[in-house]
Amino acid sequence: MWKPGAYLLWSQRVVFTLVFCLAILSSPASFAAHSDTEQAKKPTLKVANSHSWRPFSYLDRNQEPKGILIDFWQEFGTRNGYDIEFLLTDWQTSIDLVRSGQADVHAGLLQSPERLTFMDFGTPLFAIDTQVFFSQSMMGTSADYVLAGETDNVIGVVKGGYEQEFMETAFPLVSLRLFPNNQAMLDAALSGELKAFVADLQVANYHLYTTTNQNLFIPVRHLYTETLYAGFAKGNTALLNQVSNKFNWLDDDTKRQLLNRWVYYDVETVYPAYLFPTLITLGVLIVVSYILLLKRNVRQKTRALQIANGQLQEQAVTDSLTQLYNRRFFYQCLKDKQGEPKNMALMVFDIDDFKAFNDGFGHAHGDEVICFVAETAKSLLPNDAVLARIGGEEFGVLHPFSSAERALSQARLLCDEIARQSLARFNHPMPVTISLGVAYYPDGLSDSEIVAADKAMYQAKKQGKHCAVLNVI
Ligand code: GH3
Ligand code: MG
Ligand code: MG
Repeated sequence: MWKPGAYLLWSQRVVFTLVFCLAILSSPASFAAHSDTEQAKKPTLKVANSHSWRPFSYLDRNQEPKGILIDFWQEFGTRNGYDIEFLLTDWQTSIDLVRSGQADVHAGLLQSPERLTFMDFGTPLFAIDTQVFFSQSMMGTSADYVLAGETDNVIGVVKGGYEQEFMETAFPLVSLRLFPNNQAMLDAALSGELKAFVADLQVANYHLYTTTNQNLFIPVRHLYTETLYAGFAKGNTALLNQVSNKFNWLDDDTKRQLLNRWVYYDVETVYPAYLFPTLITLGVLIVVSYILLLKRNVRQKTRALQIANGQLQEQAVTDSLTQLYNRRFFYQCLKDKQGEPKNMALMVFDIDDFKAFNDGFGHAHGDEVICFVAETAKSLLPNDAVLARIGGEEFGVLHPFSSAERALSQARLLCDEIARQSLARFNHPMPVTISLGVAYYPDGLSDSEIVAADKAMYQAKKQGKHCAVLNVI
């Protein structure tokens, strides 16, 4: 439903959006030269400074601008919607670029009477501390004498920098050696070629602490603590005000955060670059080895389990005395083979008068007789016939035969051979004989309880034992 409140809210939003767009379009688009078609783009601010003033501003190995002042101005750009274009060059040129209007602003420099003649200074950024540094080999030499020019010592200073102007004014008698930039000066100092130099504490610390021979130089005289300012071409008050007004975010905390990023810059030299990749590789290796060990262990355990399982399964279907199949397996087989295959013969046989062996020769001997019957029957039957011990001295056979006659002749062979071979095996007055019943199923097995074969076997017992009786179903 239409609500007056909602309409009001929408109209407010539309008006707000329109005003916002107009404000963006009408804002001073750029400090640098820009075409009208680029009005929608972010304005660009060209910021100049030294290319080798570590850690304040310098070009890294890939010629990318880096340093404390670079971070300051990038933060400025992000917070105020400007693209910052850095023009990093030597000191003198960086100042000239601002003077001539080729750069909008100098990223940060100290005020000096000379500079005030051609530059206006904007927001104070942060203070730098300038010191005289002596090599350890000069310990004991008085800094006062050196600065008064009463010794042969030469002091290094960056050409065109504020330090040069300061030294020439404050200590006109000392001999200065001019260097194009801090890097060149510190290189000369660290190689032993230069015994004293003037530099900002931050700059010197940066250079001294990022080399291995950091103890070679120590600060011996504080010269001044001055503030770095953003610098503008003289008279460009509009730009100075615009930029300075956009620095209200730069409170002490933010300053500290920006500076702190550079305090521990030499962490890389403390921890070798290969440490983390090595640790990661080591970690991966440990994990992979652990997984491999675990896998091998699981494989071994699985194998052992499979063997144990197989043994259990075998035990479950094997008769422990004769190593033939047991009763359970035989009955399972009967169930599984119901209906199929055709021409199946099911035989059951029992040792005749077995009690006599037990009674006459002992139970152990009775066991031997059972084993003998089992071995002999196995040797006489086809390899794929199922032969099982289904009771104390009772056995079952399951195997297809092409005819009932063939099954019967196999049964007779069992009866005759067991009796014949027992005479050679045992010292009995009588042979070991069996009575055997054969049930023959021309149309496939249909008797899961061996009833027909049992009947035939009892028939054989009745007929006087030691014979086979056939029962065709
Ligand atoms: P029949 O000719 O009628 O079969 O007479 P039999 O003496 O063989 O009688 P029956 O089959 O009933 O006797 C089986 C005997 O076998 C009874 C039991 O003590 C003995 N027996 C059963 N299992 C074992 C066994 O594992 N080892 C031994 N040594 N004797 C067993
Ligand atoms: Mg018996
Ligand atoms: Mg019996």
